[in-house]
Amino acid sequence: MKFTILTLFPDMVMSGLNDSIIKRGMDNGLLEVGAVNIRDFSADKHKRVDDYTYGGGAGMLMQAEPVYQALSSVTSESQKKPRVVYVTPQGRPFCQKMAEEFAKEEQLVLLCGHYEGIDERVLEECVTDYVSIGDYVLTGGELASMVIVDAVARLVPGVLHNETSAETESFHGELLEYPQYSRPEEWHGKRVPEVLLSGNSKKIREWRLTEAEKRTKERRPDLYEKYQLLQLAKKRLSVRKIHHMDMIEAINRGRATLIYMDETECLLMENQSGTYFHTTYEATEQETYRPHFLDKLGPESLDKIILLMEHNEGCVSEIEKELGLHMEYQNHTCALTRREKLPIRGLYAEDGKEGPTGISIEPLTLSDLDYALGLYKLQFDDPEYMKHRIENDPMYLARFHGAPAGIMGMHVDGSIGMLEVDPAFRRKHIGFALETYLYNKMIENGEIPYGYIFHTNQISINMQEKLGMYVAKEYSFWLHK
Ligand code: SAM
Repeated sequence: MKFTILTLFPDMVMSGLNDSIIKRGMDNGLLEVGAVNIRDFSADKHKRVDDYTYGGGAGMLMQAEPVYQALSSVTSESQKKPRVVYVTPQGRPFCQKMAEEFAKEEQLVLLCGHYEGIDERVLEECVTDYVSIGDYVLTGGELASMVIVDAVARLVPGVLHNETSAETESFHGELLEYPQYSRPEEWHGKRVPEVLLSGNSKKIREWRLTEAEKRTKERRPDLYEKYQLLQLAKKRLSVRKIHHMDMIEAINRGRATLIYMDETECLLMENQSGTYFHTTYEATEQETYRPHFLDKLGPESLDKIILLMEHNEGCVSEIEKELGLHMEYQNHTCALTRREKLPIRGLYAEDGKEGPTGISIEPLTLSDLDYALGLYKLQFDDPEYMKHRIENDPMYLARFHGAPAGIMGMHVDGSIGMLEVDPAFRRKHIGFALETYLYNKMIENGEIPYGYIFHTNQISINMQEKLGMYVAKEYSFWLHK
């Protein structure tokens, strides 16, 4: 990911960012951070970039033209128009969700003001986002830009070595992180909580959740309120648990934003994919049912809905009509709700190593991209998507006596999928091995594997049931713009 900072003090931002994890990301080629000196674009012979404000008042203002020229020099080099963020105390408050949203961009341009700020006209013309790092006034935008670069860069896949660490941190799922301890076991007479030494991962997960809830309630009641609303949504969704497993899991995995909820229905957004999920908790009698959110949300919020998974057939036509979406697929949701791992049944040896069947499982890497695309091309023709999946979530490759034989992984919305067995290796239990391996990894992580099955695909329904999955009898519908 590329960050370009427009500033009057390029050395300040570059020296602040050229260290530790961000530097390593740059050295590895995952990050590119550059600073552009706005002063270089001044036409004034003394390189002035500021002037008095019209209407009087204390202080100087950065002029429009040098800022415009500096921005043009950056955007004219970019193939795609990048987002241009003006850091300002008047912007939207920066938060983890915004960092996650920015991390999906290929390039982010950050514009730093100084003095009293920047001439409004150039901001109107060029800026896409106004972002504040807090309700206080800094002397310039440099520190704010550095804060944003730091928070966004660490979410770029590969920048943090431990992929899960960004996922379990504060603000994930509206909770602050639980307390943590390192060696020694006792320090100043204080012992590390026994449960953390127990090796019982289920108990540790439960303890961490309770502590995170307690801490959030005490320190951030505002966040805790949002968390409680999500828990209430989860309870209501559980009336039809398998059918709603995509929504329940989005909440469980800390990836859901509650967009609208009342006593009958709920609209969530899955944060990583931007997919919306809508349902009425109970099935409705009417043939067509107008979802309440259509009348409760403003056009700005409704316009953002590009991909929606509808769980009530009666709502489909109203949503299609109102939001200009089209129904693409009709599915059943399936989910593996057991908490114990599936038996391996000799499909492969421990840790996915080759067993007597000749099957082994390993993570799919970018060096396998061409193979994966060749195998999965029938249903999928976007190489970028596959690359994104390999970089962002675990995808797996099965081998049969060393030869690549099949793949499986997770879609960006968190559902399992992309299972494809090489025709040369069919009927050798490769699919079962891949599924068992992936599901067990998820169960280990405290996740419930779920996926969608095309409603007429009886073979797949049978296969999932054989593995112990429950298949919802209701339909859900992918609606796409
Ligand atoms: N006159 C401006 C106002 O009242 O909104 C404040 C200007 S401030 C002294 C100079 C620059 O610092 C701003 O243009 C902005 O780029 C940056 N800045 C100051 N406080 C900030 C904050 N809380 N978040 C982001 N940027 C900030």
